[in-house]
This record gives sequence, structure tokens and C-alpha cells, in this order.
Amino acid sequence: MTTIGILNLQGDVSEHFEAMKKAACDIGKNVDVFKVKTSDEVSKCDGIIISGGESTVIGNLMEETGIKKVIVDQNIPVMGTCAGMVLLAKKTDYEQPLLGLIDMEVKRNAFGRQKVSFEDDIEIFGKKFKGIFIRAPYIEKVGKSVDILSKYNERIVAVKSGKYIATAFHPELTGDTTIHEYFIKEVLNCAE
Ligand code: GLN
Repeated sequence: MTTIGILNLQGDVSEHFEAMKKAACDIGKNVDVFKVKTSDEVSKCDGIIISGGESTVIGNLMEETGIKKVIVDQNIPVMGTCAGMVLLAKKTDYEQPLLGLIDMEVKRNAFGRQKVSFEDDIEIFGKKFKGIFIRAPYIEKVGKSVDILSKYNERIVAVKSGKYIATAFHPELTGDTTIHEYFIKEVLNCAE
């Protein structure tokens, strides 16, 4: 059985849990979805979601619990949203623990004061998607190994690199599980 874990350290974990269960059901795949908070639980997962929240808090807890090491050493596919995207980066504009799994530089809380939180249509995978941005980061620079999946106002807001996918916005809050479904398929491909 394929297992996807929603990292349950801090942030909007339940929303991802529900979205992932719906996505698995909609595409008819046999995927177990759990909330996970120890390195042991994470090590049994075929894919991990890191939610939005506070990336410094989540990053520190990932180091303290040994979860960071397990994700990196076991090469576990990761989907990161908002704070989760920050954590996937090689570099940010803060001093903070990072997984460094996507060759990109991220600017935190990057959309400025007037636009601290906002919703607008974006395009991803060739279709319209509701972009919910909450104190969102954007990506300032990507390396050659990174595919840009979406831009908003010329800013890069979604990317993929190998078995990692990152969005600056919150797909788990939209009811549209396109991106969760995409991640399930990636995890199944990696598990084959
Ligand atoms: N600004 C937060 C951070 O960088 C992310 C906000 C969010 O996840 N909604 O940690």
C-alpha cells in the first residue's frame, strides 16, 4: 500500500489531510493518508506533504525530531505549500533550517504589505486554478533542474524538480485537488 504522510508539526495540516483523502478517492488510487509527527512515522511514508504555517518553526522541529534527515536520506518525494515551499528551497532571505531539496532561492512574505493575503486566478497544468496566497513567498531564482509550473505577476509561484513540487499558494484550501492528484501520481511513479 502506498502511504502519504501529512507532516503534523505546525500549520494547516487537517486541510491537506482532507484534500489528500479526497484526491486519492477521486482518482481511485489505493493510498493511505496519515498525519505524521515522528521520524519513525515519516520513514514509513512514500510521500510527504509539508503544509503552510511558519517555516522557521516547522524547520526547527524537523531538525530536532530527525525528520529532516529521514526525508533527505530516504529520498522521499515531497510536496510543499507556502511554508512547505520555503523549506524545500536551497536558500531564503532568512537564517533558518531548510531541506535544500529544490535548487531555488525563495523570498519569504514576499508580496508586500498591501498584499499580505489575497486570492486571484492563476494557471497551472494548463488550467485555471484559484491561487490563495497567505503571507506568501515567491521564488526569486531557479537552477537548471527546476521546471516552472506557474507565475503570478511575473513572479514564480509553483515549481517542480524531480520528485519535489512546491507552491507559494494553498491548494488545500480550494476544494480543487488537481495538485494533490498530481503528487499522488508522482509518488506512485517513484514507488514503482
Ligand atoms: N510566511 C510564512 C513563512 O515563511 C509562510 C506563510 C504560510 O505558510 N501561509 O514561514
